[in-house]
Amino acid sequence: MATDKKIDAVAYHEAGHVFVALMSGKIRVLEAHYEGSEGYTKVEWKSGNINFEKLCYFLAGEITEYRFSENFSESHSGIDRKNTENVLFLISGNRSEQHAYWQKAIRTVNEWLDVKENAEKIEKIAKELMLKQTLSEDEINVIFNK
Ligand SMILES: [Zn+2]
Repeated sequence: MATDKKIDAVAYHEAGHVFVALMSGKIRVLEAHYEGSEGYTKVEWKSGNINFEKLCYFLAGEITEYRFSENFSESHSGIDRKNTENVLFLISGNRSEQHAYWQKAIRTVNEWLDVKENAEKIEKIAKELMLKQTLSEDEINVIFNK
């Protein structure tokens, strides 16, 4: 099983983005896709100041795949890290403040993943992605709202 989880690191990565987007309540998920080493999550930002939610969202892929698959997919986290840096600069121009926000976001995502029901939802989303490759907004919301 551990081997399967390593192979499917990208499915957990995308499931993490999906879950944290919906958990934040400020990011709409339009579609998620996973196939082998390829994956994406299409989102729409809700209005208002959602920089902290975006930060959690961009960090979620890497945190989730590490926690669930004990492995990194490598190819995916580069863009997420660039986006993380960009959002941090929008939040504050001060390096130590940026660091504090970054740590707070990592803590927030990890606290959400620590909850058993949340971890089960991520497992479900990842497994559905492995099965169907593409999940629509409705399919994702059905899993999330169970
Ligand atoms: Zn990602």
